Amino acid sequence: MATPENKLAFDGGWQYSPAPESTDHVKIKKTYELFIGGEFVAPVQGKYFDTINPATEEKLSKVALASAADVDKAVKAARKAFVGWSRLKPAERGKYIFRIARILQERSREFAVIESLDGGKPIRESRDVDVPLAAAHFFYYAGWADKLEYAFPGRAVKPLGVAGQIIPWNFPLLMAAWKIAPALACGNTVVLKPAETTPLTALKLAEVIADAGLPPGVVNIVTGAGETGAAIVNHPGFDKIAFTGSTDVGRIIQKALAGSNKKYTLELGGKAANIIFADAAIDEAVEGIVNGIFFNQGHVCCAGSRLLVQEPVADAVIRKLRDRMETLIVGDPLDKNTDIGAINSKQQLETIKSYLAIGQEEGSEMFQSSCAVPKRGYWCRPTIFTGVSQSNRVVQEEIFGPVLAIQTFRTFDEALIKANNTPYGLSGGVWTDKGSKIFKMTQSIRAGVVWANTFNKFDPTSPFGGNKESGVGREGGMHGLDAYLKLGG
Ligand code: NAP
Ligand code: MG
Repeated sequence: MATPENKLAFDGGWQYSPAPESTDHVKIKKTYELFIGGEFVAPVQGKYFDTINPATEEKLSKVALASAADVDKAVKAARKAFVGWSRLKPAERGKYIFRIARILQERSREFAVIESLDGGKPIRESRDVDVPLAAAHFFYYAGWADKLEYAFPGRAVKPLGVAGQIIPWNFPLLMAAWKIAPALACGNTVVLKPAETTPLTALKLAEVIADAGLPPGVVNIVTGAGETGAAIVNHPGFDKIAFTGSTDVGRIIQKALAGSNKKYTLELGGKAANIIFADAAIDEAVEGIVNGIFFNQGHVCCAGSRLLVQEPVADAVIRKLRDRMETLIVGDPLDKNTDIGAINSKQQLETIKSYLAIGQEEGSEMFQSSCAVPKRGYWCRPTIFTGVSQSNRVVQEEIFGPVLAIQTFRTFDEALIKANNTPYGLSGGVWTDKGSKIFKMTQSIRAGVVWANTFNKFDPTSPFGGNKESGVGREGGMHGLDAYLKLGG
């Protein structure tokens, strides 16, 4: 987030000085085909869609739209490749995955720029979070490839076969890494579909995979819309479906898979409570709130989108938060000083705007920072709602934007009841200087991940996933291996 050092003194005030990252040496093709069987091939029906830069509304590329026939081709390529890939010496499999990680690191600047162009996230985040974490994920799972029997002592481990993987637009490259790395390490082959609005870094990753010399068909990338995802879910040739996305689509997928033998993991939505006790380090907690909800424009499944603050410090926290919001820079994702980039799509901006109206209709007080936003593109100023009640839609529903609902509480139990009063159970945060409160709260919040005195920290070694309507299964860490293996007795 911006610090005063990022701004230059001018005429006695603070003057913002833009510093956009150059797009030199960043190769984006005019047209992208499907990556099937180790080659880029045209879609059977010859259909394409445009991917745009949400900060300018300009077209970046034309991308192939995969139909059910293309998905079928990809499944056949993956099935064929599975024979050799699953029998390869595990240490050799590991070498290929290490190679992907290293090439990703070497081309990290290009990946960061493309991620910011295609999806709208600030370059500082794609450069410092998305791309390094994606490489770290490949490094981590490469290390497991020849150690699977140590992960599950005394049990026989076998790959599942062909995995169908469907990912969202908020962390396009990182979600591709989360899906592909453990699947390959366990000896599976994959067909992955990126989101319609952010296909470019997955296609760049296909180039890396080709350059790393992976056998053809081990990784296949099929771009397209929701129907392409449905074609993956409904194709009988998959042994596993891994989905990250909305709870609504997760439900459709779970129903479609009922009664099939396909193993599945669903990483769905969230509405996390970030709980600030009066004994917390308040300035640090305010930074944690900002990071919790404004990181990646709030397009984060585990975002701290509900703030619960203890009454004695509520006024001070809200005052400091509003001051801090006024320092956040909304604008060009390629500018290194930008804190909040573009909203990923017109459709998502409309969804967010509808919640801004709903919050006000429900009687809550809305505050937005007063910063200027560019004329073209999709933008939303950082926003908070105060005076909300537990039943309000802005408290209960996932907005997936830079919008925070703030509630207060008196006692530990009240905070806990409010935190758990949600259909979701993905993440949570606790801010206090008492270890005992951290232990008690982290044990009692019904969520997959709970951070203490920090928020939105990710690491390939720790499992991630939800309870309740936030999904089933875990990704990351050793748990992430389980999701891609048949374990014998
Ligand atoms: P989404 O609409 O559910 O889409 C996710 C993916 O599924 C996209 O690739 C989408 O394709 C595809 N899809 C759409 N309809 C489908 C269908 N009927 N069958 C199969 N696939 C289908 O979600 P989103 O709006 O992209 O992402 C935001 C949601 O993801 C939020 O709710 C967020 O909380 C959740 N999320 C969860 C996690 C987690 O780890 N728990 C992480 C990130 C995001 P198109 O893009 O072409 O429509
Ligand atoms: Mg785009």
